[in-house]
Amino acid sequence: MKVLKFGGTSVGSAQRMQDVCKLITSDGKAKVVVLSAMSGTTNTLVEIADYLYKKNPEGANYVIDRLEQTYMGHIDQLYTTDEWRQQTESFLHEEFNYLRSFTKMLFTSFEEKVILAQGEIMSTNMVTNYLKEQGVKAVLLSALDMIRTDKNAEPDFNYIREKTIAQLEEHPGEEIYITQGFICRNAYGEIDNLLRGGSDYTACLIGAAIKAEEIQIWTDIDGMHNNDPRVVEGTEPVRQLYFEEAAELAYFGAKILHPTCIQPAKFAGVPVRLLNTMDPEAPGTIINNRMHRGTIKAVAAKDNIICIGIQSSRMLLAHGFLRKVFEIFETYKTSIDMIATSEVGVSVTIDKRVHLNEITAELKKYGTVTVDDNMCIICVVGDLSAQNVGFESQATEAMRQIPVRMISYGGSAHNISFVVSESDKKRALQALQECLFSYDGHVHRPS
Ligand code: ADP
Ligand code: ASP
Ligand code: MG
Repeated sequence: MKVLKFGGTSVGSAQRMQDVCKLITSDGKAKVVVLSAMSGTTNTLVEIADYLYKKNPEGANYVIDRLEQTYMGHIDQLYTTDEWRQQTESFLHEEFNYLRSFTKMLFTSFEEKVILAQGEIMSTNMVTNYLKEQGVKAVLLSALDMIRTDKNAEPDFNYIREKTIAQLEEHPGEEIYITQGFICRNAYGEIDNLLRGGSDYTACLIGAAIKAEEIQIWTDIDGMHNNDPRVVEGTEPVRQLYFEEAAELAYFGAKILHPTCIQPAKFAGVPVRLLNTMDPEAPGTIINNRMHRGTIKAVAAKDNIICIGIQSSRMLLAHGFLRKVFEIFETYKTSIDMIATSEVGVSVTIDKRVHLNEITAELKKYGTVTVDDNMCIICVVGDLSAQNVGFESQATEAMRQIPVRMISYGGSAHNISFVVSESDKKRALQALQECLFSYDGHVHRPS
C-alpha cells in the first residue's frame, strides 16, 4: 500500500479537492491519504489564537466569521447533492461554533493546540464526504487515535505502529483511508501537533509504520529543487536524492519537506517521492537508499540562526571543557546545529532563542562570549566525501565574496555548511547556484 500526502495548496479550493480525489481514485488501488488543512487555514487559526492570548474575543470572532464564510463558499462548490452539502455544512457549523466557544474561556497553550488542530479536521471531513458522494469506498481515520508523541515531544514509534495497523485492520476492504496530517496527541493524551509543516511527518510516520510500498508527498512544485526557488531564479528539480541528502536539505531549510520527516522513512527503508499536484505527470524527486558518487545535488538555507562564540585561552581543549559547554545547552534543552573549534575558541549555532540569556550567562563562567544574531546556515548537499576531491573547495570558492562566520565540513559525507549573515543569504545562494550548477542542473566538475 502507498501513503500519499497532499499539502495545503493541493487541497486549497473545492476544485483542487476534486482534482485530488480524481488522482487518488484513478488506479483503483487501496491507499492511505494524509491531508493538510486548506492553504491559509492554519495561519488563520494562529491569528485567532493570537487574539485570544491578547484577550480580544471580538478580534477572534471577526476572524472566525470570515473563515466560516470562506468555508461555506467552498462547500457550495464542492458537492453536487444537497444531502452531502447539508451534512458537511452542519459539521462545519459545529466546528466554527466550537472555535467560538474558546472566546469565552481561559486561554492557554492547551486551547491553542486544540484550535490549530481544526484545520486538518475540517479538510479531511470535506474530502471524505466528497469521496462518499462520488460512491468511493472511503473511511476517515482520526490521526488522534494513531499518532502520539512521547515525553520528549518525539514521535512514539511503537505506539504509532501498533495503532495505525490496528486502525487499518478495523476497516478492511476500503479503497481510500483518509487521515489528518500535523495533528497528534502528546504523552499526556492532550491534542498536540508535529509543528508547522508537520503533515509530511505524519505521512512518513504512517508510511514507516505500515512499511508502505512508497510515501508520496504531493505539493505545488515538481520535486526538490537544487536551490531555494523562493530566493534564487533558474533552480531545477533534482531527480534523485539519497535519504541522508534529503534529510540534510530538509533540516537545513528546504521547506518542501518537514525538517525531520525523512528519518522514519529512512529507518524503515521506504522510498519517498515528491510530486506536483499541478503537474501530476512530472517525474518529481525520488528519495531512496541509492547514493550517487561524484555529484553535488542541492543547496538549502536555514534562517533565524544564532551563532555563539566562546573564547578561552586557559581552558579550551583541556579535557572536559567541551563537555561543560555542551552540558549548558543540554540543561536548557537547546540543540546545537553546527560547531567549529580552534585551540582558543569554539563557535556553535542554535536556532532556539528562548533560553539564550541563561545560556550566555552560564557560558561566561568559562570564557569570553560573543553572540551574532540574524545569521543563516547555508548547506551544500551531495557527495562531499573526502574521496570526492575538489568539490568542497568549489563550494568555498563560490563564497569568495561573502563574509563567512563559520564553516563545517566532514561531519558527514554529504554536507558542507557555511554560516553567513541573513543579509548575505541571497547573494550566497545565487553565487553557489552559478558556481555549482550548470544550465542542465549538473554540477561543474573541478578541472
Ligand atoms: P505544502 O503546503 O504542500 O506542504 P510547502 O509550502 O510546505 O507545501 O512546500 C512547498 C514549497 O517549498 C514550494 O512551493 C517552494 O516554494 C518551497 N521550497 C523551498 N525550498 C525548496 C526546494 N529546495 N525545492 C522545492 N521547493 C522548495
Ligand atoms: N497545516 C499545517 C501547517 O500549515 C501542517 C501542514 O500543512 O503540513 O503548518
Ligand atoms: Mg509543507
